[in-house]
Amino acid sequence: MNIHTKAVHAGDRKRQPGTPIPVTTPIHTAASFFYDSMESIDKVFAQEMPGYAYSRYDNPTNAALEELVSSLESAHGTLATASGMSALQIAITAALIDRRKHVLAANALYGATVKLLQQVFEPFGTTNTFVDICDLDAVAKAIEAEKPGVILMESISNPLLRIGQIDKIAELARAAGACLIVDNTFATPALIRPLELGAHISLSSATKYLSGHGDVIGGLVCCDEEHFEPVRALSRIYGPILGPFECYLTMRGIKTFPLRFERQNRNAIAVAHHLSSHSKVENVYFPGLPSHPDQSTTARLLPPDNFGAMVSFEIAGADKRAVFQFFDKLKMIVPATSLGDVHTMALYPAIASHRDIPPKQRARLGIRDNLVRVSVGIEGIEDILADLDQAL
Ligand SMILES: *Cc1c(COP(=O)(O)O)cnc(C)c1O
Repeated sequence: MNIHTKAVHAGDRKRQPGTPIPVTTPIHTAASFFYDSMESIDKVFAQEMPGYAYSRYDNPTNAALEELVSSLESAHGTLATASGMSALQIAITAALIDRRKHVLAANALYGATVKLLQQVFEPFGTTNTFVDICDLDAVAKAIEAEKPGVILMESISNPLLRIGQIDKIAELARAAGACLIVDNTFATPALIRPLELGAHISLSSATKYLSGHGDVIGGLVCCDEEHFEPVRALSRIYGPILGPFECYLTMRGIKTFPLRFERQNRNAIAVAHHLSSHSKVENVYFPGLPSHPDQSTTARLLPPDNFGAMVSFEIAGADKRAVFQFFDKLKMIVPATSLGDVHTMALYPAIASHRDIPPKQRARLGIRDNLVRVSVGIEGIEDILADLDQAL
């Protein structure tokens, strides 16, 4: 089924005998549920009968969102979590439980993900290796040398928007018995469905494109059959579930997500091309430009003429002060953390997402001090370009 169709139908309108069918799933606030007989409760607790017992385990509003997202991501099952970070924590933990405690991670990852690996997992005995995930030979060598339990990558990396060969890495992971976890926040299931490419777990920050209106913090862990039960079982103990109100908001957001994202993708192409020919701009990083290093992977894995809606660029010769001036001059574009919202947003990686990475390491990763990251919104394109122009 088309993603636009799934977005407005999947998960909703559950039939219950004798009751009217709500057109959208209500917010179920009950913390616990009971049944007409103790026998039924017993069966629900034993997971022999489908049903709800306690909202940390499961809740009808959460279940509706989870069914919707499973449909978008081609997942066996999905867990909605309190944030993208809790999605990462629970996915990595579940995958490592019965595997070697070593994570092979992409060297370009969301800042807090690196902290999670180094400041939380490492002290508990997990070791990490970081690799250029777009260098398939290097990935193969690292798998051979390190025998990782988990391979962790982002489908489109932040902030330089590199695209790794998920399908090939999945083959290597499977041959080595490792679990491939893909953070699909930037690409979204509209562009890439990692599970269809052989990944075991695809997770997202629902805070970003899927909710899309800057009013939810949430995460989604989309699993294949092997990993869904361990993730769900761990969630019952850890309890990092998304509240029913946020589930409702996320589901509401997803209904227009494919529509919004189409326009954001189109606007991003225009922004990238405009900036490429701008005299004040040094380099533009965007998977749709001929200068992008992952052309062939992009052509292979992404639908034609869709490259996501993130554009990064370097302001020619700018130091930190000049970059600050650019941000202070923006009139419409919102200079806030986060991405994927309906409004265009700009972020300065050196002081925000990549602040805690030492300058030398940042430089090695190609993240220069004149780099700006833009999350392109759904506004009229002429207004986005005009604001960028007057601030440059
Ligand atoms: C924002 C983000 C996260 C973390 O998500 P939260 O909802 O803020 O916890 C993880 N990965 C990527 C790629 C992100 O952009």
